[in-house]
Amino acid sequence: MKQLQAFTNPKTNLPIVSHFINGELTLGTSQKTSPIYNPSAGEIIAETALGTVSDVDAAVQAAKSSFHPWQNVSALKRARYFFELKSLLEKNKEKLAAIISREHGKVLSDALGEVQRGIEVIEYACAAPQLLKGDFSHSISTGIDCYDMRKPLGVCVGITPFNFPAMVGMWMFPLALACGNTFILKPSEKDPSVSLLLAQLVKEAGFPDGVFNIVQGDKVVVDALLTHPDVAAVSFVGSTPIAHYIYETASKHGKRVQALGGAKNHCVVMPDADLKSAVSGIMGAAYGSAGERCMAISVAVVVGEETANKLIAGLKEEISKLHIGASDDHASEMGPLITAEHRANVVRLIESGIKQKADLVVDGRHVMVKGHEKGFFLGASLFDHVKPEMEIYQKEIFGPVLCVVRVKTLDEAVNLINQNPYANGAAIYTQSGSAARYYAAKIDAGMVGINIPIPVPLAFHTFGGNKNSMFGGHHMYGEEAIRFYTRLQTITARWDLPEVAKKQHFVMPTM
Ligand code: NAD
Repeated sequence: MKQLQAFTNPKTNLPIVSHFINGELTLGTSQKTSPIYNPSAGEIIAETALGTVSDVDAAVQAAKSSFHPWQNVSALKRARYFFELKSLLEKNKEKLAAIISREHGKVLSDALGEVQRGIEVIEYACAAPQLLKGDFSHSISTGIDCYDMRKPLGVCVGITPFNFPAMVGMWMFPLALACGNTFILKPSEKDPSVSLLLAQLVKEAGFPDGVFNIVQGDKVVVDALLTHPDVAAVSFVGSTPIAHYIYETASKHGKRVQALGGAKNHCVVMPDADLKSAVSGIMGAAYGSAGERCMAISVAVVVGEETANKLIAGLKEEISKLHIGASDDHASEMGPLITAEHRANVVRLIESGIKQKADLVVDGRHVMVKGHEKGFFLGASLFDHVKPEMEIYQKEIFGPVLCVVRVKTLDEAVNLINQNPYANGAAIYTQSGSAARYYAAKIDAGMVGINIPIPVPLAFHTFGGNKNSMFGGHHMYGEEAIRFYTRLQTITARWDLPEVAKKQHFVMPTM
């Protein structure tokens, strides 16, 4: 299959990441672009085409015209496209990961993990015929049967964040398409290149043109999608203020919406915890991907002074061994942050922690990576004796900063966590089954990990939080996605017409 025609900006000589509409790459109607950085080098490497209202309209028209034929393709045949896509994704795993790593800054092995978790949703979509089966009740009354159908909604939209430029889109479009919808993806403008390789592979897998489209851009594109009369549903993942805005605006315009927001994930460490695994689990969960994960552990809530002292000592030692480096260096365990602006914001929050008298045990602000002096690197920072009223506790930092809060009992930990306005993930390290069971029952969080620091459910379960971490009724992927991307229709049928059915009845029918 031939490569789709890519574009270059003649003024800057940089590649332009374009839209993908009706099976073709297009620059759309605007000349405007925004820069894409390689965060390890701190240099601009490409530009994102910023779409317009008319680009959105072109994508919606393409998705709308392909909706009718696509929904009439049998679920079994739709599933076969996903088998083909899965095999193409497997073949292109390394390529996809390299693009992600170069623009996002996460290390290659982490980017590969991201691709793998996306592929798992494609595998789930291969079960479309099974997933779309409805319930059937035979003879609910004499000669009457009742059954359900799950019908697609129409044109669905996905708006995604920078931190998982491939995976989050893959949480959405495979199941939307498997259900018979068509789709428009709006990736983050900060690292959109991987979306075009996904588009190339979708085309190569044989999906009809117009079934999957991409419009690149910013708020202009988002607003046009949220208000377009021919868009039926919106899936969003990003920060809480924008998730809330998306939920309100799209709902007001009659769309079905699921909007996942930010997080402040806590991990309780009990006095009986296996401290070695707590330290290594929290290290990966707090500093992996430079803390730019919505399931990152940003607060360790430690029960008892002695446990806290031991945990801090263990973390300090591991942080001193952490290898920070360019994302394409195989030795790197942690790469840079996404932009200089985001780095500056994380540094400002560290300074706020110092000002508010948290105890900065490890200061990551002065890390330098040799040969990458302009890169957006920050080392791992560790705060002890953090109090709930401090800004570093209240805000989502989204960087490599871990706050330790010391408490006396498990109940104190649970109360603290349940008062937090975010409720995405929560974890506990303990060797007590009853403490773990008590925690899981009492804690208000969408996903709970027991001796697992990042409890991201697999594709056949579902992903989503509570409170300010999610607006809308359905979680991402798994059976929840089938519910989100379909409208239920229930049919009550009588074929065998007895005399009684030919008479007029004015009372509510009962069986
Ligand atoms: P973001 O909210 O800034 O951007 C997300 C998307 O919204 C992007 O496509 C962006 O172009 C668009 N957008 C940004 N500002 C907008 C505006 N004013 N109007 C309309 N659209 C706008 O988020 P981000 O910085 O890309 O990603 C990081 C955030 O995402 C963090 O808060 C993180 O916790 C969250 N996140 C949550 C989950 C989850 O599952 N809950 C998963 C990943 C990331």
